[in-house]
Amino acid sequence: MLDCIFCQIIQGQLPCARIYEDDRVLSFLDINPVARGHALVVPKRHYSTLFHIPPEDLEACIVAAKRVGAAVFKGVGASGLNVLQNNYRAAGQLIDHFHLHLIPRHAHDGFFTAWPGKPYPTGELDRILRKILPEV
Ligand code: AMP
Ligand code: ZN
Repeated sequence: MLDCIFCQIIQGQLPCARIYEDDRVLSFLDINPVARGHALVVPKRHYSTLFHIPPEDLEACIVAAKRVGAAVFKGVGASGLNVLQNNYRAAGQLIDHFHLHLIPRHAHDGFFTAWPGKPYPTGELDRILRKILPEV
């Protein structure tokens, strides 16, 4: 993809702070980190979202995320790590090349402190489940 920033990084046309690379995957530091050591794992082939990436490249990404995540965790002395992945604008996706975010966490760092969970109203859980199950 000519206009894809991550494809340009993979092809060496744009610089990156590379952490790890193999046949299928490249990992580098996020240029605009939400925490020091925030890293990205991207497949070398262009897929726009989780719904487009095939199992082999997805597996390579998650295996690399485990390795790089452990290195980030240890390297910056984190006490936690989030693995995040955004699909489409409504979910915050800005770059349409599948990627995993590895975000090191520290106690009281203020990032995602309050997960906005609340229980289903009566009957709603079953109604939602019935909508999803036929799509599996
Ligand atoms: P998302 O919102 O999930 O699409 O995340 C895209 C991420 O890519 C953001 O966290 C950006 O800071 C990061 N990003 C954008 N351009 C670059 C770049 N040239 N090098 C490294 N990270 C980048
Ligand atoms: Zn791309």
